[in-house]
Amino acid sequence: MIFDTHAHYDDAAFDDDREEVLKRLPGQGVCRVVNAGVSIETSKKSVEIANKYSYIRSAVGIHPQALENPLESNYISILEKLINENKKVVAVGEIGLDYHFNSKNKSEQIELFENQIALSLKHRLPILVHNREAHKDTLEILKKYRPKGIVHCFSGSLEMAKEILRLGMYIGVGGVLTFKNAHTLNTIVRNIPLTRIVLETDAPYLAPVPFRGERCISAYIRFVAEKIAEMLDVNVNLVYEITFQNALEIFKDL
Ligand SMILES: [Zn+2]
Repeated sequence: MIFDTHAHYDDAAFDDDREEVLKRLPGQGVCRVVNAGVSIETSKKSVEIANKYSYIRSAVGIHPQALENPLESNYISILEKLINENKKVVAVGEIGLDYHFNSKNKSEQIELFENQIALSLKHRLPILVHNREAHKDTLEILKKYRPKGIVHCFSGSLEMAKEILRLGMYIGVGGVLTFKNAHTLNTIVRNIPLTRIVLETDAPYLAPVPFRGERCISAYIRFVAEKIAEMLDVNVNLVYEITFQNALEIFKDL
């Protein structure tokens, strides 16, 4: 009963064996995957993949890192067309702010983020938020617009996590939880309700221990679910059930 709320199977890391990997996942317990775009090109690929596999859904969006290349001025209408023409588009993402990667184009990043939040609100879709070293601005923008969705690969403080929950959003937890140095994330998982956590991979990135550093696939979520079960001293099936329900609640039309 694995629901992977965030993966990138359009990534070049899957170019050699994408079809084999995606055909195998349902047999490995994966029921749902939301594949997120990070640019116009990958959003289109993401929709293609979702249309090909019954268990896959798509998010379309432009990641702040895409600003390193020239961006089509009509990017919102391109994304909007993908939303309107494809029933399997269930979210806007991956969008957000990344001041670790580039702290010199903050205003462009914020504009890109805000425009895509507006798009999500117009279409009543949740968003998949990327936030790296931009906690303050991310939180301010989320408070201003009040979108629904997931703060993916959560890297903020417990206090920030609680603020996110107060906004009605969810916390995405993936492979990082199994890493030795994930103290803050450990504290967060112990101190927020399981009803507000969703599981994710960020495949092909961030594979959990014991596959850390290797190419990640959605089946590896099992190691994250087992870690949460151990931390909370509950049965792992309860972790699958609750986080699955949470994801259904977010992506309403699944
Ligand atoms: Zn991602």
